[in-house]
Amino acid sequence: MYYTTALLLANALYAYACPQHSNHKVSGALNKRQQTGEEFYVRPDDQQWAYDASYDWGSIDPAYELCQTGSQQSPIPLTLNQGLALTHRPTFDYAENITGNFYNWNYGAAFTLDHPEGEYTGLPAFTFEEGYGDSGRNETVYMTGWHIHSPADHTINGDRSRSELHYVHVDEEGHERVVLAILLDPSNDASPFFSQLPDMVSFNETGTQVPAAMNLRLALEEVGDLSEFWTYKGSLTSPPCHEGVRWFVGRQRLYTSRTQMKQILAVSRFAAREEQQVWEHEINV
Ligand SMILES: [Zn+2]
Repeated sequence: MYYTTALLLANALYAYACPQHSNHKVSGALNKRQQTGEEFYVRPDDQQWAYDASYDWGSIDPAYELCQTGSQQSPIPLTLNQGLALTHRPTFDYAENITGNFYNWNYGAAFTLDHPEGEYTGLPAFTFEEGYGDSGRNETVYMTGWHIHSPADHTINGDRSRSELHYVHVDEEGHERVVLAILLDPSNDASPFFSQLPDMVSFNETGTQVPAAMNLRLALEEVGDLSEFWTYKGSLTSPPCHEGVRWFVGRQRLYTSRTQMKQILAVSRFAAREEQQVWEHEINV
């Protein structure tokens, strides 16, 4: 009986079990929790899948089949031999004073942007060229939030950064469409982007949201406005591993102070999926 109840609970939570690239859904879950007083927030122990068992995701649930059979799965190893992207260069329309909520997505620091339910086009915009030649067209997506993985998802020439910041963007209907990835490593000086954050929400407070205002451009400015990057056709890096997500991975790293990196790591849990085989990713194409 307990098992059945636990399973039902797990299934009920499953809809919210992929907060990584679905910050709008997490926001909805948290709002519901606040309204009802129920605990909707998914703790890692409640999930059917775990990052340290990512090779098995495809066999856990038929809904996760793409994790095993997909041909554009993320993350993939990147190298300088692949060159850098010469097309798809994005432009950003990120206002300086964006309001939202700072929280812990169970695996680390995260931020979700305020927006009316189901309306995304008022959010900070990211425009890039999809396709090329005669089929090229500009596409605009909208940023719903960011979160941090530790260690980094993507390696560069086999080198893995301490952490990776994901700016998550959706299309007009709220489907995850673009992730901008910025690699994070410690150095001497404080990062202005991280200096503007409130104290990190600790792991024991994953239900806590702290209202905050942020300048989202700062992270971009700290990596040369993304003048050099890789781009490829990939997927969500957690079940159900949906494809159709275009990745932009900045070549320049964002350097934090040692203290800032320790704060980031202190609220993080392992959240890096095994790197996937390069197949139909069309890197930089
Ligand atoms: Zn992510």
